[in-house]
Amino acid sequence: MGNRFEFRPYIRPFRQPLKTHYGEWRDRAGILLRLTADDERVGYGEIAPVPWFGSETLEQALEWCQRLPTELPPDTIPAISNSLPACQFGFESAWEAMSTEMNQPQLPLSALLPAGAAALSAWKPLWKAGYRTFKWKIAVATPLQELKWFECLKQLLPVDAKLRLDANGGLTLEQATEWLEACDRNTVEYLEQPLPPHQFQDLLNLQASFATTLALDESVATLQQLQQCYEQGWRSVVVVKPAIAGSPAQLRQFCQTYLIDAVFSSVFETAIGRQAGLRLAAELGNRARAVGYGTTHWFEHDLQKFDALWQTL
Ligand SMILES: [Mg+2]
Repeated sequence: MGNRFEFRPYIRPFRQPLKTHYGEWRDRAGILLRLTADDERVGYGEIAPVPWFGSETLEQALEWCQRLPTELPPDTIPAISNSLPACQFGFESAWEAMSTEMNQPQLPLSALLPAGAAALSAWKPLWKAGYRTFKWKIAVATPLQELKWFECLKQLLPVDAKLRLDANGGLTLEQATEWLEACDRNTVEYLEQPLPPHQFQDLLNLQASFATTLALDESVATLQQLQQCYEQGWRSVVVVKPAIAGSPAQLRQFCQTYLIDAVFSSVFETAIGRQAGLRLAAELGNRARAVGYGTTHWFEHDLQKFDALWQTL
């Protein structure tokens, strides 16, 4: 008597490499999980690590999967170390999916634009497809060049479009100041992680010095980091990537205790991880902001049926 545990690794290429301050990302690799109860109820989950954000590596996640017994006792979730946040999310969401009716919440999405000058034309078909919030990665080319593209992009975008910028921690304090001056002149929804996490005090100072809202992302990758930043006084936007934040149950508890301005965001999961993330977004995110799950156009194939997706592996 118990639940059967299975896992299958996957890899899928981006339609075009994703350029950020970290370099080029060509393939998304992760692991799909399936739990099957005695009565044949099935729950899918997904482990989608992003090690450069501070999650475990794919290898560490695979090792954890291989060590977990294939037959699990019926009513116990295995204890999973906080050093394996993507595994915590993957397993717990599979568990939840097995025991609850899963639905796909319909939320306004923010569409991710390509970095550089490509954004100047890429927003248009996305606007036509219904997106009203866009995110553009900066700190990929020189600030001089990117500031020019930014001014162009702002002029091209319809007035009711919202724009978010994301530096992935790649600016110097001087560059961040320059960007924030430009943002104050041009209006953006927010500037995400201008400086790396270790410059937390500078981030607080910048938020106090400019009208433009700042968001933390890399600084709050895991629930423990999110708690720390909150305790140290951060009250502005936080980007929550549930797939690497850790236990959904603990994340719920934190978000229901403290009033945080959270934008839930994808890490390029398949439809399985996305559904679990969107459910948390609908429950815990700031409904006045678009969620960061407008990323499916970055892949050629995006299978929505979980059984079919599982069968491809
Ligand atoms: Mg970000």
